Amino acid sequence: MLSLVASPALDRGPLPAEGGGAGAVLRTVLAGGPMARSAVGRAVGLSAAAVSRHTADLLALGLLRELPPPDGPPRAGRPQLQLDVDTRHHLACGVHIGVPWLTFSLLDLRGRVVAHERLPRTGDAAEVLRTVRTHLPGFTARRAAGRSLLGVGVVTGGWVDAERGVVVEHAPLGWRDVAVRDLLAGSTRLPVHVDGHARALARAELLFGAGQGSTELVQLFVGNVVDAAIATGGTVLRGRRSRAGDIGHLPVPGSAEPCPCGRTGCLQATVSDRAVARRAYRQGLIGRPDLDLLMARAAAGDTAAVALFEERLALVAPVAALLLDVVNPEVLVVSEAGLTVVPELAGQLRRQVLEHSRPEPARLVAAGSFGRDLLAVAACAGVLDSAYQRPMELRTARAS
Ligand SMILES: [Zn+2]
Repeated sequence: MLSLVASPALDRGPLPAEGGGAGAVLRTVLAGGPMARSAVGRAVGLSAAAVSRHTADLLALGLLRELPPPDGPPRAGRPQLQLDVDTRHHLACGVHIGVPWLTFSLLDLRGRVVAHERLPRTGDAAEVLRTVRTHLPGFTARRAAGRSLLGVGVVTGGWVDAERGVVVEHAPLGWRDVAVRDLLAGSTRLPVHVDGHARALARAELLFGAGQGSTELVQLFVGNVVDAAIATGGTVLRGRRSRAGDIGHLPVPGSAEPCPCGRTGCLQATVSDRAVARRAYRQGLIGRPDLDLLMARAAAGDTAAVALFEERLALVAPVAALLLDVVNPEVLVVSEAGLTVVPELAGQLRRQVLEHSRPEPARLVAAGSFGRDLLAVAACAGVLDSAYQRPMELRTARAS
C-alpha cells in the first residue's frame, strides 16, 4: 500500500502558477463536480491543455477520478468523461483537543466524517499529548481501512500559532506555549498541522460548507473558547503572531462575570459553554453543570433550556454584527451548540445580527454547517485545506 506524504513546508509564499492551477482544478471539482474537463476549464479560466495536464496529475495522485461513461447509445467523438473528487484512497486524520474531550477523527476528501472516537481529556498538556500519541496509531489502524493518510491535524481553541505549531495560550485548558507539533512530530511520519479551532472551521466552511464558492468569510465560534476567524481572498488571516480573531475579551455590556484575564464582563467568560452550563445548573435545569445535559434538554423542547441558548445568542449577535460591519464578508458563520440542537434559533440569530449591523440585504448569516460533527471536521480541516491548496506537494509516495 502506498501512502502519500506531504512536504513539511506548510507555510510558504506565493505559489508557482503550476501548483496553484492544480489546486484550483481540484477545488472547482469539489464545489461543482462531477463535471467535464471543459466545464472545469471555463470555471477556472485555464486552457484545455492546462486543465488536461493538471487533471492527469490529480488522477495519478488519486485525488480525482473519472466516472464511467453513462449507459446509452454511443455518441460521435470522444466522450466527455465526468471528473469527480476521488474519496476512495486518502483520508485526513485529526485530533481536536477540547476542555472535556479529545476527539479523534478521519475525514474523506469531501469532508465527510469516516470515523470518530472521543476520550475524556484529563491531565496537563504533557499527559494529553501522551494520550494522543498512544491512541492515534490504533485509531487509524482500526478505522482507516487501509486508506492512506494525508496528515495529522491538531486543533484546539485559544491562541494557536499555526506557523510554529504552538498553542500559545489556552486559558480554559491552562496551557501556555505548548509546542504541539514538535512534541507529536517524533511519533508520526505524517505532517502535523496545528491550528486554532475557529481558523480550522473557517477553512472547512470555505471548502465544504456555507462558504463553498466564496472567498470572504467570517467564522465566529462560541464554545468554551470564543473566537473568530476571517478569510479574505480565500485565505484565512493569521495576523501577527497568529492572533487575529481573538475576540474573547470584548466587553459585554451589563455582564459582571469575572474573567481569568482579571477584568469582568468579557465575552468569553460571559457566554462560554461552561458559563451557560453553570447558569443552567444554578437554575436547577440540570443535575450537574454539563453542557451536554443542557443540549439534550433543549433538543427535547424544554423551553427554559432553549431560553438559555437564546439568551447567549442575543449576547453574541452584537459581536457578530460588529464583525459583519468591519469585514463585510459574503458569509458570516456562527457555530454554537444551541444552533446545533435547536436549528430554529438560526432565524432569530440572523434577525438580531442584521438589526445590529449596517443594513445590506445580500449578507448571509449562517449557522455552522457541520452540526455535531463540528469538532471532528475542525480537527482534519488543516490537512484537507493543505491538500486542496497545494495538491502537487503530496507527490512524495512512500510504502507503509
Ligand atoms: Zn477577559
